[in-house]
Amino acid sequence: MVLILATHNKNKVNEIKAILGGKFDKIVSADEIGLTAQAEEIGSTFFQNALLKANGLLVQLKNKPEISGKIGDYAVLSDDSGICVDALFGARGVNSNRYFSEGDDKANRTHMLKMLKDNPKRHAHFESSVVLIYPDGKVLSQNGITEGEILQEEKGSGGFGYDCIFYSYDLNKSFGEATPQEKNTVSHRARALNNLLKLL
Ligand code: IMP
Repeated sequence: MVLILATHNKNKVNEIKAILGGKFDKIVSADEIGLTAQAEEIGSTFFQNALLKANGLLVQLKNKPEISGKIGDYAVLSDDSGICVDALFGARGVNSNRYFSEGDDKANRTHMLKMLKDNPKRHAHFESSVVLIYPDGKVLSQNGITEGEILQEEKGSGGFGYDCIFYSYDLNKSFGEATPQEKNTVSHRARALNNLLKLL
């Protein structure tokens, strides 16, 4: 079976491939098969947005038999994730990409550091919801969380998004300082994907 990822984020694609690679004949991102993974993230939970993303891509595949017909058996996987910072917006992390929508990752990090200034309350967690949807409409979903805090400044240059300002309690260093393999042992997405693996 081919797994089609409803994301264009290359970092997410690599993280997902590393964990689910053994379960599927092939894993491809939407753009690798000429589709755009786009869905308006209007849900109020990570799960709802992940479902919108996965379903949006499934609808495109169903409307484009010239593409899906060549693939054989397939399923679609999406991830919706975000950072929840207690001192800023607590549980409203599902809106973190919009709240900090400055245009790019670096600007988002700078904005977050500015908002926190020297606030000593820096606890945060990442959350991820992954949704796997089959063409017959069957849905599997799992969540994952990872805890840490927002650093005073960027540390490391690995990863993407907020990785280099997120100090992981599991790794005792920032996700930006971690190798992709280290991040993939403890990250929110890895935990959600490993939970999903148990259902496959
Ligand atoms: P989305 O799931 O692609 O909508 O991401 C929401 C926001 O959370 C974006 O600003 C991402 O960069 C950020 N984000 C999600 N997962 C991670 C991660 O693993 N590391 C760093 N930032 C992340």
